[in-house]
Amino acid sequence: MSTATVTEIATLKSALESQGVKYALASYVDIHGMSKAKMVPLSHLEHMMQGSELFTGAALDGVPQAISDEEVAALPDLQSATVLPWNQEVVWFASDLYLAGQPFEACCRSILQRMLEKVTSLGFTFNLGIETEFFVFREDEFQGFGPVSDRDTLAKPCYDLTGLLDNYGWLTELVEAMNQLGWDVYSFDHEDANGQFETDFAYTDALTMSDRLTFFRLMTKEIARQHGYFASFMPKPFANKTGSGAHYNMSLADIQTGRNLFEAADDPRGCHLSTLGYQFIAGVLRHAKAICAVTCPTVNSYKRLIRKGSLSGFTWAPVYICYGNNNRTNMLRIPLAGGRVECRAADISTNLYLGAAMILAAGLEGIQQALDPGDPHTENMYNYTLPELDALGIDLLPRTLQEAIDAFERDPLSEAVMGPLMYRTYVDFKRQEWEEYHTHISDWEYQRYLKFF
Ligand code: GLU
Ligand code: MG
Repeated sequence: MSTATVTEIATLKSALESQGVKYALASYVDIHGMSKAKMVPLSHLEHMMQGSELFTGAALDGVPQAISDEEVAALPDLQSATVLPWNQEVVWFASDLYLAGQPFEACCRSILQRMLEKVTSLGFTFNLGIETEFFVFREDEFQGFGPVSDRDTLAKPCYDLTGLLDNYGWLTELVEAMNQLGWDVYSFDHEDANGQFETDFAYTDALTMSDRLTFFRLMTKEIARQHGYFASFMPKPFANKTGSGAHYNMSLADIQTGRNLFEAADDPRGCHLSTLGYQFIAGVLRHAKAICAVTCPTVNSYKRLIRKGSLSGFTWAPVYICYGNNNRTNMLRIPLAGGRVECRAADISTNLYLGAAMILAAGLEGIQQALDPGDPHTENMYNYTLPELDALGIDLLPRTLQEAIDAFERDPLSEAVMGPLMYRTYVDFKRQEWEEYHTHISDWEYQRYLKFF
């Protein structure tokens, strides 16, 4: 089962030993993209790398197994070895799940790898960069939780320097940890909600980026906790503030030369994007609703996908299925320099293995069928009325998790990407999540109706 050779493992083991590493983690994700693992003393690294660690899938969300089934085995990827910056005695590995010696059909990481094999066979590398927006809060005796800094109260806190400096301690520790891992952070700032931040770092191939985002959420939580705070990757913690996106910045490169195939010097549409890039966009727009079920995967995600309701005026989140130039009111944006496509209909609770697989599959369909997305929207899409959007042939993104799951279930692309087992599991799990929410009677309803009627 192992992909790493005995020599490679032995070399890694002695390097880790000399760095003082004592334990190794065979880690993988559940349906939410949350890390699950067993810890193994370094003396057992060789066994672990050969798949010794077994897990009962039925104990987890969306690792579809009956309790009577044989356990799944985690097969760590040697390339993903990451010593925890906040605890250098432990090394983490992203793993693929196997069942009875065969790849486990519903393993999130393997689902992405199946799509990546397809992109490789077409001669492309799928490159991906994620803008990580998230909140760091302190527990508050009176309000439950709030920003770390008591000065972080501006109605328009975007790029606020005071708020940034007041969070300097944990934030620079996080950035230094990211750079220690070679992620190349190039900028970080205070985002548009109180207590909200963003770190931006170099893009990579999609598998590496998915491993990194998974690890990033874990690491941010641990570092914030060491400072007495907590990090939240909930997409929309406050009704009146902007939510946390996880914009996917995507491009295809030539697998041989590494040349970016979305770049174009002379683009008649003025966005510095190649025909291949436009075809990719058209495929993503075609499957936008099903993609949204995976890139915006929670009940709470859909409270982010609105126009207004943020103290600073707008939410900067997409509402309509359309694309444009360097214009944040579109679902898909082509940033000023061109050469890449940014999907804004994604939030930070995304399971990136599944989200990247879905969006890549849709983009490839656009390329294989040579679809054309029409001209880019350069106008403020938020200003359109519904009849005007109808006249333009522009549809809305799903308004709720229920709408998204319905679209996911109906779209043949979903099962083609996920495989029958994860497709069914995803639909059932997310529908149940919606039902639980929908049948809950909220405070808003009691306030509004209990004594009114
Ligand atoms: N926080 C916004 C969102 O929910 C995005 C802000 C930005 O453009 O960086 O997508
Ligand atoms: Mg941002």
